[in-house]
Amino acid sequence: MKKVFKNILLWHFLPVIGSFIILLFSFDINDANSTQIKNNAKNIPVKRPLNLLSLEESADTIFNLVQKIGAKPVANIKRTRLKKNENLSMALKRINFENYHVSKIIKTITELNKGHKILSSLPVGMIIHYSKPSNITGGALKLNYTKTKDIFVWQDINDKYNSQVFLRPSRTEETLIKGVIKNNLYISALKSGMPENTLLEMISLLGFSIDFQREIRSGDSFEVLFTKKIDSLSDLVTETKPINYVSINLSGNKLNFFNYKDKYGLPQYYDENGKSSKRTIMKTPINGARLSSRYGNRKHPILGYTKMHRGLDFAAPSGTPVFAAGDGFIEKAGWNGSYGKYIRIRHTGTYKTAYAHLSGFHKNVRIGKRVKQGKIIGYVGSTGRSTGPHLHYEVIKNNIQVNPMKIKLPAGKNILKADINNYKNHITKILNLKIALEKSNRNNKIAINDHHNSKKLVLN
Ligand SMILES: [Zn+2]
Repeated sequence: MKKVFKNILLWHFLPVIGSFIILLFSFDINDANSTQIKNNAKNIPVKRPLNLLSLEESADTIFNLVQKIGAKPVANIKRTRLKKNENLSMALKRINFENYHVSKIIKTITELNKGHKILSSLPVGMIIHYSKPSNITGGALKLNYTKTKDIFVWQDINDKYNSQVFLRPSRTEETLIKGVIKNNLYISALKSGMPENTLLEMISLLGFSIDFQREIRSGDSFEVLFTKKIDSLSDLVTETKPINYVSINLSGNKLNFFNYKDKYGLPQYYDENGKSSKRTIMKTPINGARLSSRYGNRKHPILGYTKMHRGLDFAAPSGTPVFAAGDGFIEKAGWNGSYGKYIRIRHTGTYKTAYAHLSGFHKNVRIGKRVKQGKIIGYVGSTGRSTGPHLHYEVIKNNIQVNPMKIKLPAGKNILKADINNYKNHITKILNLKIALEKSNRNNKIAINDHHNSKKLVLN
């Protein structure tokens, strides 16, 4: 996790570090080339050790390319950025490329596949590495025009301009990020080095089970395992794959979810027992009851006038058990005016359910306690403004009652019994990978500390 954060920092300081290194580097090349060119102007540059250049991929690759292709030698590699309202030819003129070279460079790029389109859609801020043409050195450009592709332009030994698109090399890396929440999950996760994509994925995946507004406490912790694609030249993350495993520890209450692809190859998440991460809310939180009054306008049986009925009524004998419609927290359990004995469960930040006219509460029901879907919370009664024993059931979305029959929550399907052994093997593999990553993260930490120490010594 440190590494990603370091990369972000590095990215911010790259222009500064980069120009410093280029400065050093250009002296270096200059020197080498001038000696060499004096001896033999048409010689291909001597192969240089890569480690000298490994900090600055741009100079590295433009120089290496010229060596690889056997192009006209380059010198004084510098960089600039494409400015707003500027096209490539304007940028080249700004850095004092002569018109002759500018038009040859533009021409060779337009001859590429979709060259015109590429030229008209170069991103503002794109880094342009360049070597200016002279009598003895070749003009060359490297345009990092997408996350994954570079265009190289170079002069061959006959001074002719050529161009080619190159794919930037990349690698995938399994990543485990762990963090402790200070005040805010979002900020703490970003600080831990989690890419924003992954963070948003984590939030939507946990959103079925957790109310982020209220359930998160300072000191709660999280861990996420995912695969990222890294640009091998810049070491920047270019892509993140769906989360493989996520775990959140809320005041000792731990939720774990594992990615297991469905038959369509789409990622689905389940807990360690194979229960889907997607929570649904039961439309009928009672067994063997008759729906006696629907949601909508009706003549109120006691008040006598037409009133909006914002719930469902289920007629059932007094004492019939009432279930929690979904996983959540008991928000209210007590007398509530005309509702009589009343329970309200908060399921997520968005959904709540309420149960009214109860005769009594289950002994485990207390405000603030977690309940599981399908557990008994109370019993049918006729308390409050009621004509006879029934359950009045409400689904509340963003604090407004909605029709329980019409809510569309993604119904989560659990792992099938026939597949449970495969699933358990799968999660064992993920957990083993996690342990291996924990080990290597610890080792990296030690290495980073050593690195800092040695740096300090050099500075002193
Ligand atoms: Zn009712």
